[in-house]
Amino acid sequence: WTKSALSIVVVGASGDLARKKIYPSLFALYNDGMLPEYFNIFGYARSKMSDAEFREYIASGLTCRLSNKDECGDKLEEFLDRCFYHAGQYSDSKDFAALSERMAAKEEGRKKADRIFYLSIPPSIFTQVAACASDAASSPSGWTRVIVEKPFGRDLESFRELSEELNQHLTEDQMYRIDHYLGKELIENLTVLRFANLVFEPLWSRQFIRNVQVIFSEDFGTEGRGGYFDEYGIIRDVIQNHLLQIVALFAMEQPVSLDAEDIRNEKVKVLKSMRKIDMDDVVIGQYRGRTTKGNHYPGYLDDKTVPPGSLCPTFSAVAMFINNARWDGVPFLLKAGKALHSRRAEIRVQFRHVPGNLYRNKLGVDLDRATNELVIRIQPNEAIYLKVNNKVPGLGLRLDVQKLDLTYKSIYNKHLPDAYERLILDVINGDKRLFIRNDELEAAWGLFTPILQEIEEKQIAPELYPYGSRGPVGAHYLAAKYGVRWGDIMNSEELESV
Ligand code: NAP
Repeated sequence: WTKSALSIVVVGASGDLARKKIYPSLFALYNDGMLPEYFNIFGYARSKMSDAEFREYIASGLTCRLSNKDECGDKLEEFLDRCFYHAGQYSDSKDFAALSERMAAKEEGRKKADRIFYLSIPPSIFTQVAACASDAASSPSGWTRVIVEKPFGRDLESFRELSEELNQHLTEDQMYRIDHYLGKELIENLTVLRFANLVFEPLWSRQFIRNVQVIFSEDFGTEGRGGYFDEYGIIRDVIQNHLLQIVALFAMEQPVSLDAEDIRNEKVKVLKSMRKIDMDDVVIGQYRGRTTKGNHYPGYLDDKTVPPGSLCPTFSAVAMFINNARWDGVPFLLKAGKALHSRRAEIRVQFRHVPGNLYRNKLGVDLDRATNELVIRIQPNEAIYLKVNNKVPGLGLRLDVQKLDLTYKSIYNKHLPDAYERLILDVINGDKRLFIRNDELEAAWGLFTPILQEIEEKQIAPELYPYGSRGPVGAHYLAAKYGVRWGDIMNSEELESV
C-alpha cells in the first residue's frame, strides 16, 4: 500500500520509435530490475489493436539480451502481462478519460499513483495530446510527467508558439524534453572526465586548445524515409540539437553542483555567449547517387519520399565561436552528414603545437598529426583516447604517435544501456540533468534560425557529394579557413582499425 504505482503511457504506441526504442528500453529496465514494483504500460494511438496484438507488436521489436533464454522468456511474459493497449483519438478528452479509468483500475490498492506520458507522435499534435492528458488523465494522487520528443519547432518563432501552447497545459517541471544524445554513455562521462580528473580541466581553454570538432556521420542515406527528413534537414535534425548540446556540455564552466538546474544554468550561459553564426561559416551539401564496384547507391533525390528537386541539406559543417574568456577565438567546428564514408559520432579536441619543440625534426609525421589530440568517441565502439608523441623503442631517436587508450569494450566487459533506457529511468526518478530546458532551446534556435532562414529564403543550393564519400569539398575549405584539418579525415584509419 505504501509503495506507489507507476503507469507509463506511450502515446503514438503504434509508431516506429515506440517499437524500436521505447518498448525495448522499458523491457531492458524491467529486466535489470529498474522499474518500480507496481508498474504498468499503456499504449495509446488511433490504430485498433487488442492487448494481445499490442503485446505481439512489442515483442516483435525486442531482442532479448539475457544469455539465459529460458529466464528471458519468463521475464518477457511477465513484462508483456503488464502491457495494455487503449485506442483513442488524440484530441478527444473522453478517450483520455477512458484511458485514465483503465489506468486507475490497475493502480488500485496503492496509496499514490504516478503517471508518465511519452509523446511519441508528430509535433503537430503535441499540444492537443498535452491538453487532453493533462485535463482528463493526470494522476489524481501522484505526479504526472510528460516526455516530449524532438523536433521542438522548426525555428525560433514556431518553437515559441509550441512552447507557449504546451505551457498552458503543463508546467516546466512536468516537461522532459528528450535529446537522446545526452543519454549516451560518453556524453554523460564528459563532465566526469573534466571535473573528476585533475589533468584535463587546466588545459580546457583557449590557452591550450586549438580547436574542437564535433562530428556526426552516417554511412547510409534516407533509404525511403526522406519524407520526414526533408521537412527538417540535417541542421535541424542533428546540429541545432545534438551537436550544439554537446558543445554546451563540453564548454560550460564547472556547475555549482550536479543538480539539473545548476548544470543547465551553465549550459545556457555557453549558448548565450555564442557569436552570431556567419553564413560564410556554414557549408551545406546533399548526397548524390554513385555506382561503385557494380553496386548502385541512390542519391537523396532518388528517394521516392523526397520532393523532386529538393534543396534540403543532408550534410552541413558550421564554424562557431564562444565569446567568453575561456574560449575566445577557438573554432568549434560542427559537422553532420548522411551517406558518408563512415558511421561515427565523436568529439575531437586538437591541442596547440608544443612551443619550441625540441623534437620537431624527429617527428614521424607532420606537425598537425603530431599535435596532441583527445578523442571522445561516442559511437560506435565507445572510447576515449589521447594521442601522444612517443619515442620508438630502440637505438636512434625517432618519434611516432601513439594512443593512451580507454576503449570501453576492452576495459568494461558489460553491455552499455541504450540512451533511451537511461533517459526513461531519469524521468521516473525526476532527474532532469539530461533533459533540455526551455531557455536552452530558445538560445539554440536563436543561433540557428537566421542561417536557416537565409538558406531557405535565398534557396541556396547544397554542394553535391557522392554517396559514401567524405562529404563536400567546402567543408575542408571551411576548416582550412581557421587553420584546421578535420580529425576524422586526417585519421580515417582510426575507425577502420576498431
Ligand atoms: P510515426 O511512426 O510517424 O508516428 C507515431 C504514431 O503517431 C503513428 O503510429 C500514428 O499512430 C501516429 N501518427 C502519425 N502521423 C500522424 C498524424 N499526422 N496525425 C496524427 N497521428 C499521427 O513517428 P515515429 O517515428 O514513431 O516518431 C515519433 C516522434 O518521435 C516524432 O515526433 C518524431 O519526430 C520523433 N522522433 C523519432 C525518431 C525515430 O528514430 N523514429 C527519432 C527522434 C525523434 P496512429 O495512426 O495509430 O494514431
